[in-house]
Formats: sequence, C-alpha cells, structure tokens
Amino acid sequence: MSAVATNALIEAGIKHVSPSSLNRFLRCPENFRQRYVCKKPDRAGHKALLGTADSKAFEDFYVARLGGGPGISLSDCEDSFRDHLLAKAEADEYDLEGETTSSLIDTGIPTIRAYYPVAQSMPDPIAVEEKILIERDSLPVPILGYTDVEFEAFGIDRKGAANKSVHPDWRLQTRIYSAAKSKPWGLHVTTRTKVPAVYTPSDGEQYEESWSTAKADRTVRMVGQIVASMESMILMFGVDDPWPQNGYVHQWACPRCPYKSSCPAWA
Ligand code: SF4
Repeated sequence: MSAVATNALIEAGIKHVSPSSLNRFLRCPENFRQRYVCKKPDRAGHKALLGTADSKAFEDFYVARLGGGPGISLSDCEDSFRDHLLAKAEADEYDLEGETTSSLIDTGIPTIRAYYPVAQSMPDPIAVEEKILIERDSLPVPILGYTDVEFEAFGIDRKGAANKSVHPDWRLQTRIYSAAKSKPWGLHVTTRTKVPAVYTPSDGEQYEESWSTAKADRTVRMVGQIVASMESMILMFGVDDPWPQNGYVHQWACPRCPYKSSCPAWA
C-alpha cells in the first residue's frame, strides 16, 4: 500500500474502518461515500433501536457478572431495556418508522425473557463491550470495533433477527473479532418471532467462526483488499462525484437508504 494511497483515505476522512462500515461499502459504495466521506447522517430505524436497547440490557447483565458476580435479575434486564429504548426514542436518535414505543417494548420484552436463561448459563465473562483495534503494515488504516462479550475460551456477538438465518453481514464481523482476539467467535441470535427463540453455536457450526492464525491472516488480507477498493474509488472518481451504486441491485439496500432521493440510480 503506497503512502500516497493511504493519504488519499485519510484526506477523504476515512481514518479507520469498522465491520459495519466495511459491510456498508460492500453493499453500496455510493451509500458509503455519502455516510463516511460526505458525513451525511443516517438515522437508523426501529429494528436498530430494538437491537440497541436489547444490547444495553444484556451489557448490564454481563458487566454485573465480570469477576464472578451474579448478574442482574430478569426484571432489572427488562427495566434496562425499557429505559434505554424510551431514552433513545425521546432523544429522537432513531426513526420509529410509524411504530410506537409501547409496541416496540411489547416486541422486545419477550426477546429479553427468551435470552435471559441463555445469558445465565454462560461462563463468567472477561470483557464486555471492549474496543478492538487491528493495526498491520498491510492495512492502510486500522480496523476498529467493539466486541459484545468475551469469555476465556471464546467470544460472542448477540443479534436480533426475524428468523434464525445467519446474515452474511455478520460473518465479516465475527471473523474480524476472532482475528483480533485469537479465539473462536460465536453468534447468539434471538428471533423476534411470535415465540422468540435463541440460536447459539450449539445449534450448528454456522453460528460460530473458528479461529486459526492462518484464517486470521486471511481475514486481515480480505479487509485490506476491501480498503484498497475504497482507495481505488477515491483515485478513480474523487470524493465529490458518485461512486458505484451497487445498492440498486441489492435486495434491501435502497428502500432503507436515506440518500435515495439524491441517488443517481433513482434519478
Ligand atoms: S439509493 Fe441505493 S444505490 Fe443509491 S446510494 Fe442508496 S443504497 Fe446505494
């Protein structure tokens, strides 16, 4: 990677990449340019609000178990979920997309109840919401992320979803965390179905990313190639002209895109 190319990324405002920014770029380079180069806000919807409130509730649970603590009760988890959701909604940080906070609470509380026994069955964590930073000579900018929960022998990332399928987006994230921490990284998926269910690595190998030194090296190389594609866009198209609008042929990218009204693909 040349110093010129690295400077191009830094000058474009891309000082690091994260699992979510990498996935966004892979989904649609123009959407990535709008968000991370033009710095235009992207207000997440009600599913993201449910996810963030759920994460906070179990962050509280796992933090209380650090060092062998007992965790917090189910009703404290539910209160944490409710309080966080209401605070975020009141701050207008999310687009509720026509939902009400009470309907979101009704959707979220059963998922808290479904995951609580799984959380109780886990070993004592050694880190919760920890920052990871991968810096390598082969990476023009570092990879930055925040893991959900780390245990001695493995880590997990928690997800809420409509069904038990593993989203392709999640794979890059768990690979990066596994590479950063040199241990396997699992997914705990809670479905937002009528009767919520929880899927973990014990339900199939698709819920766990294995770790090896060679695989970690391949992961860093994969990310380096994605970052090289970002810098090639800067060098080919500049920062003011649109980048490829790949979201146009993606299953759900455009309907959820806040930049659609000015996107050349939809002009
Ligand atoms: S509307 Fe679609 S193609 Fe255009 S920037 Fe958004 S995701 Fe990309």
